[in-house]
Amino acid sequence: MADGSGIEWTEATWNPTTGCDRISAGCDNCYALTLAKRLKAMGNPKYQEDGDPRTSGPGFAVQEHPSALDIPYRWSAPRLIFVNSMSDLFHAKVSTPFIQEVFRVMEETPRHTYQLLTKRPRRAVRLASHLPWPSNVWLGVSVESEGQLGRLDELRQVPVATRFVSAEPLLGSLAGIDLNGIHWLIAGGESGPNHRQLDPAWVRELRDSCREQGVAFFFKQWGGTRPKSNGRELDGRLWDEMPVPTPA
Ligand code: SF4
Repeated sequence: MADGSGIEWTEATWNPTTGCDRISAGCDNCYALTLAKRLKAMGNPKYQEDGDPRTSGPGFAVQEHPSALDIPYRWSAPRLIFVNSMSDLFHAKVSTPFIQEVFRVMEETPRHTYQLLTKRPRRAVRLASHLPWPSNVWLGVSVESEGQLGRLDELRQVPVATRFVSAEPLLGSLAGIDLNGIHWLIAGGESGPNHRQLDPAWVRELRDSCREQGVAFFFKQWGGTRPKSNGRELDGRLWDEMPVPTPA
C-alpha cells in the first residue's frame, strides 16, 4: 500500500491481497508482475511466494494479507484509494470471507472512496448479493479490446453506485461501445520496453463515445518506453474528468 500514488486517477493504493495470474491480452506486460519480482528480490515479505510460471511469476502468488486490513482506518483524511494495484480482488484464489472483510473495511470508512478494478467481473456478479456495496465503492472492469466488451455486461449486473471502465492498455478499437450504466472511462496506452502501439483514432472514438453518452472521460497517457514518454494531452488538452456518482 502507499499513501500517494503515481497513478494519475487515484490518490493512494491499498493492497489487502497481492499476486495474480494473466487472464487476457491486457495482462501480457503486467507491471505488477514485473514489480513483484523486484519486491521479492528486495525481501518484501508480501512478495515471497511464487505464482505459476505459466501465468504468474516470482513473488506473484495470490496471497491474502489480513495485516493490511487496518490501513484505511489509519488514514484520517479522506482519500481516493485504488484497491489492489498489485492484484485482482475477484481472483478465484481470494476467499469469499476475505473479500467480505475488505468490503467491511470499505463500508466502515465512508470518508474514503474506493476504486476496485477487476478483469474478473463474473465473480463479482456471483458474490454481489453477499457484499454490501456502500456508495463509497466504485467498481470497474478492464476492457483492452473488443473481445473483452462482455465484461461491461457483467459489470452492469452489479448493484454498485459508480461503474467505470479502464481501457488501458488500449489494444484495439472499441468503436460503438455501449456505456449505458457506466459513469467513467479511463483510456491509456501501454508503457515499458515491450509496449504496444496506441492508435490515436481509438482514443478519439472513446472520448467521443463518452461525450455522446454522458460519461466522464479520463485520458491517462499515450504510453511508450516510459509512462510519461509521450505525455497525456489529446487534441491540445488534458482530459481529467471524474465520475459523478448516482444512487445505487
Ligand atoms: S489481471 Fe491485472 S494484476 Fe492480474 S495479471 Fe492481469 S494485469 Fe496483472
